[in-house]
Amino acid sequence: MGQGLSCRTSDEHGLFTAVQFGDLDTVEAVLERDPSLIHRTTVFDRHSALHIAAANGRIEIVSILLDGSVNPDLLNRHKQTPLMLAAMHGKISCVQKLIQAGANILMFDSLNGRTCLHYAAYYGHTDCLQAILSAAHNSQVSISWGFSRFVNIRDGKGATPLHLAARQRRPECVHILLDNGALVCATTGGYGFPGSTPLHLAARGGSLDCIRELLAWGSDRLHRDASGRIPYTVALKHKHGACAALLNPSSAEPLVWPSPLKFISELNQDAKALLEQALMEANKEREKSILKGTTYMPPSPSHSDVGVDDSISEASDTELCCICFDQVCTIEVQECGHRMCAQCTLALCCYNKPNPTTACLTAPVCPFCRSCIARLVVAEVKTDQNTECDLNSPKLKRSRRSRNFSEGSSSFKGLSAVSSFGKIGGRGSGRIAAENAWVDKPLSLDT
Ligand SMILES: [Zn+2]
Ligand SMILES: [Zn+2]
Repeated sequence: MGQGLSCRTSDEHGLFTAVQFGDLDTVEAVLERDPSLIHRTTVFDRHSALHIAAANGRIEIVSILLDGSVNPDLLNRHKQTPLMLAAMHGKISCVQKLIQAGANILMFDSLNGRTCLHYAAYYGHTDCLQAILSAAHNSQVSISWGFSRFVNIRDGKGATPLHLAARQRRPECVHILLDNGALVCATTGGYGFPGSTPLHLAARGGSLDCIRELLAWGSDRLHRDASGRIPYTVALKHKHGACAALLNPSSAEPLVWPSPLKFISELNQDAKALLEQALMEANKEREKSILKGTTYMPPSPSHSDVGVDDSISEASDTELCCICFDQVCTIEVQECGHRMCAQCTLALCCYNKPNPTTACLTAPVCPFCRSCIARLVVAEVKTDQNTECDLNSPKLKRSRRSRNFSEGSSSFKGLSAVSSFGKIGGRGSGRIAAENAWVDKPLSLDT
């Protein structure tokens, strides 16, 4: 009998080891010998085979176990589900498989009261975060709970997934969460210092990219936590100098993504990506002037210039923007069909913020014909059959010229992009302001 018992424990141990290392043959052999082992757990943490397989990304074994009707929501000692462990370790195929098998995304562990969404955000696994969010869109959770409530779900100390992503320096997760409706102004209960916003936690973590994302989504630099500290103070305290420079309430305000505008919320993925990139570039240009004279100048400005040049060379057949005469037209206004560059589109939208006194949102109109903007799309490159072979095509000649112009002045281009924005917000004497009636209000954004 003693022998039987030890044989059994060794089988059990063998099973867990085989699951951990993805040894499919052994797993199948052991389970064939004793199918009841499928329900065993490890002694200390009470991990099931499914927990171990999910945490180690053993997708075939996860599939075998789920097909063998193992409950996808088994709990270990800390009430963690296999889905939480897969999200923690970034095992995307296991996350997808568990969700397919009906794993509950709305379970809370007993360590910190966190969900699988918290795990994905904390550990910075963007693919897992996306998978869980799209599952939430299509599941009972969004019916019973509401999707935005799920995105802003709090752990035991009142931290949302956005708080954790900001604290752990996960800018991509911060972006995805904001894009899915995470509240930029949410405050924690006991996590970090009570009353911290995601911006406080990003200041503490010292991630410039997280701070950029949060500011571009309208995070308030003047929000005080329960001890009365603004994010600037937090960054100074933790000696994150560059972060502090951006968070300093007296430095220029960044452009904020104009999310309340209807046609902005309805952008397709491509147009949105273009405009988001333009926003980040514009804000990085602003940062340069904030950080100039400090010791925190970005190591090299080249990375943002590279992106601009790429878009020029790819779209060399398109026309130059008639507002700034600097960038190529990448955005088309519909219904009228007028075109401008992403930077000018963004400037147009960002400087028509809702008036705080009347709370009335005046949607910008097309700067060329003043018609309403129904939607913004990526301007299609007009290709005339095989223009590449036809060297005498006037279109090709023109585009070559503009391309050379752009290439020869890439450093100038960066500067002029800033100065265009500066003019709009500044004294209004620039080319853009003079030619376009849409900048007709005096703007005092620096106050
Ligand atoms: Zn332009
Ligand atoms: Zn128009």
